[in-house]
Amino acid sequence: MNYQPRIGFVSLGCPKALVDSERILTQLRAEGYGIAPTYPEADLVVVNTCGFIDAAVAESLDAIGEALAENGKVIVTGCLGAKGSVVRDLHPSVLAVTGPHACEEVMAAIHAHLPRPHDPFLDLLPPQGVKLTPRHYAYLKIAEGCNHRCTFCIIPRLRGDLVSRPVGEVLREAENLVRAGVRELLIVSQDTSAYGVDVRYRTGFWNGRPLKTHLTPLAAALGELGAWVRLHYVYPYPHVDELIPLMAEGRVLPYLDVPLQHASPRILKAMKRPANADGALARIWGWRKICPEMTLRSTFIVGFPGETDADFQQLLEFLEAVELDRVGCFTYSPVDGAAANALPDPVPEEVKQERQARLMVLQAEISARRLRRKVGQVLKVLVDAHDEEGRAIARSNADAPEIDGVVFIEDGAALPVGEFAEVRIVGADEHDLYAEVGGTQTPKRKPRRNGEVRVKDT
Ligand code: SF4
Repeated sequence: MNYQPRIGFVSLGCPKALVDSERILTQLRAEGYGIAPTYPEADLVVVNTCGFIDAAVAESLDAIGEALAENGKVIVTGCLGAKGSVVRDLHPSVLAVTGPHACEEVMAAIHAHLPRPHDPFLDLLPPQGVKLTPRHYAYLKIAEGCNHRCTFCIIPRLRGDLVSRPVGEVLREAENLVRAGVRELLIVSQDTSAYGVDVRYRTGFWNGRPLKTHLTPLAAALGELGAWVRLHYVYPYPHVDELIPLMAEGRVLPYLDVPLQHASPRILKAMKRPANADGALARIWGWRKICPEMTLRSTFIVGFPGETDADFQQLLEFLEAVELDRVGCFTYSPVDGAAANALPDPVPEEVKQERQARLMVLQAEISARRLRRKVGQVLKVLVDAHDEEGRAIARSNADAPEIDGVVFIEDGAALPVGEFAEVRIVGADEHDLYAEVGGTQTPKRKPRRNGEVRVKDT
């Protein structure tokens, strides 16, 4: 057999970057390259970087340094790659640097330094491509870039304005994923609710059927595939109301990840956010009337420049009123090149930390209250793994992987990973649920973490 050149791959950053990594890996496998699990086994290493916050920049630069030290031939792509000089100043020996969403450029750089192999077995590529997630769930990116200009964010500068993928292409990818065993599709983009705006919601085709490039028909069609469909990064625009009946009918999971970031109108204006708090509150109450079992997740930033005690208090009152199920909270940190860096009245670090802690304590109470209501219910869950105590670790429709809580199934050792199961909820804490498949014994409850989670952007 011919020598097969092998690529090492380091993937950092958010689910959108993960999808870019999957595309590059899929293309590499399609062209006959092998994927090496260690640096010494690789002929060349690709590092897909994140450049969203300072900590991510540092992590990316470290990863590039490590790949250079261990292997020596390194191509850099991703958000940090958009700021090529930052990479080249510290690591002048990298072979090439590209920005995010640049599969073709990365492949061209790889071809230049490690020629494409002659492989007679190209058709061995699995139809779903190469996935970095477990076999039973997958991220599906429906658009790239963003038309907003939030002052704390440089993603539009790195990734450009919104570009929606053709609706037929998205659905074909989803079909392949489901055929390959994916049970849950996680729909992502910078601004999922804006899908299709850039192409004026033009009509595309899926299996000969005309379909608008718009989130509502796309979500409805995805709901026909038989997998769970979970929507992330959805802003409370009026047309999002159309999705709620799909959730009430069980065609799309009754779950929305709505990044709100703050509730004080003054701070939202300074952030240049695309939605205001009163509008969001009214909209959320309307959604809950139609679909009471809906789970709402959001993220917030505390300590944004100019945030006063009164602004923060307004945020706490909003959280009390809206009772979100899942909340992530960042302290504000300046991002190189962001417009917010020029704003006056920075908030001292200790005040940011104290506000974050207060917010998470309040949210833990709210979350615990909401999770307690589920005790006694029978829920459908998707099994992700087993732990060393013999429990199955699963997720209900209220739990996105990595960022939300889980359902511990005490007597779930025999439940297969990647399959659905029905369980009865017997306990709850502020983050997780405890369940059993049968029997009535009281479970051993073991709180896992304090309810704080981390997200990357939007
Ligand atoms: S925070 Fe989200 S909506 Fe705002 S500019 Fe960045 S990607 Fe767009």
